[in-house]
Amino acid sequence: MDLVIRGRNVVLPDAIGARSIHVRDGVIASVRDYDDFDGDCELIEAEENSVVMPGLVDTHVHVNSPGRTEWEGFQSATAAAAAGGTTTLIDMPLNSIPATTTLAAFRTKLDEASGKCFIDVGFWGGVVPGNTRELAPMLEAGVVGFKCFLVPSGVDEFQHVTEDDLREAMPELARLDALLIVHAELPGPIDCCSPTGSSSDYQTFLDSRPRAAENEAVELMVRLSREFGTRVHIVHLSSSDAIGTLREARADGVAISAETCPHYLHFVAEDVPSRATEFKCCPPIRERANREGLWDGLAEGTIDMIVSDHSPCPVEMKLRESGDFFAAWGGISSLQLRLPVVWTEAQRRGYSFQDLATWLCQNPARQVNLESRKGSIAVGHDADLVIWDPHREFTVKAAALRHRNKITPYEGEQLTGVVQKTFLRGKKIYDDGQLTPQSMGLMLV
Ligand SMILES: [Zn+2]
Repeated sequence: MDLVIRGRNVVLPDAIGARSIHVRDGVIASVRDYDDFDGDCELIEAEENSVVMPGLVDTHVHVNSPGRTEWEGFQSATAAAAAGGTTTLIDMPLNSIPATTTLAAFRTKLDEASGKCFIDVGFWGGVVPGNTRELAPMLEAGVVGFKCFLVPSGVDEFQHVTEDDLREAMPELARLDALLIVHAELPGPIDCCSPTGSSSDYQTFLDSRPRAAENEAVELMVRLSREFGTRVHIVHLSSSDAIGTLREARADGVAISAETCPHYLHFVAEDVPSRATEFKCCPPIRERANREGLWDGLAEGTIDMIVSDHSPCPVEMKLRESGDFFAAWGGISSLQLRLPVVWTEAQRRGYSFQDLATWLCQNPARQVNLESRKGSIAVGHDADLVIWDPHREFTVKAAALRHRNKITPYEGEQLTGVVQKTFLRGKKIYDDGQLTPQSMGLMLV
């Protein structure tokens, strides 16, 4: 053995208990009783009350590089991720320039990311109008699946698709057995509402992105998934109204899954201050009752996972002077905070460490076909682990986060759960505030 990591609260797929995890060549060689190790290698002991969990998998991260590296970048993103207990992230195909919508652009992205990452990184490709012929080559080259938008994405390089575009792309995706992940808001219900309040008032912004836009988009995707047999995943579900549609479709055999994000599970619209554009994202953070509906969707398993949708920008683009919710960039920074935000809310509602591992590790790994390597503490898996203290509270100081741009709505929030150590393939990459100097993250292609 190279290393044994042991603790009193080790979260396994089917149990939680005192175990010793034996690591050889970066892989979990065996999981044994707590006292069962030969003493012939390095031993790392978690504190009595700490939890040992699989390294987190975050399948929704906008790294924005190349092209908008000043928004984030692979070095800063993966450093923040490692400090937050995340050992695998999947980069979104937009906000970088070029967007990852062609094979050539994907190669550019790989060149940019290689050698810079503290954790393992995979990539989504994009479906945009007219790029159907690029899908097979991109999949062959290693993207994990494809994202599309049903409304304008916010950047010109990544055009949204109409139903006609989807009717062209979805048969090809079905043929390739590739997953289509969808920003599910439709333009119709957004275009036809014209809220009249002040643009620096959060309620005005919320009124401009009605639940109907999401609900109808989910209905459309259920219909198309059923028609073409394409596997579909709804990203950042905010409207809890759509959960019933998803539940019925799944019961009926439609291959559709869904994620939600920490901000929809933590914040509520009623408490967002005027001009606080750091809370802006699309779809928006909704009302308190909606938040509880999303938790119910997780509990019943209709919502499969919680991923960050980390989508940063330079501070200036949040327009803090004017506080104009309509003109400010939409996107919330939270890559480093996913574990404590979700745990803070989950423990209040009586959920377990195993629920947490299902939502933050196992199901995201399965979404991108990494479940044989990532997301579980199991023999043969990469020794990607996080040791964290589920009792310790802290106050978020945005300036101390490793995200390149420090603006986040979590500033000043009191959260529970502190990441102590992160291991990537058996190597300690983060230890009580210190990051390893070398970038040993692999490209998952
Ligand atoms: Zn996103």
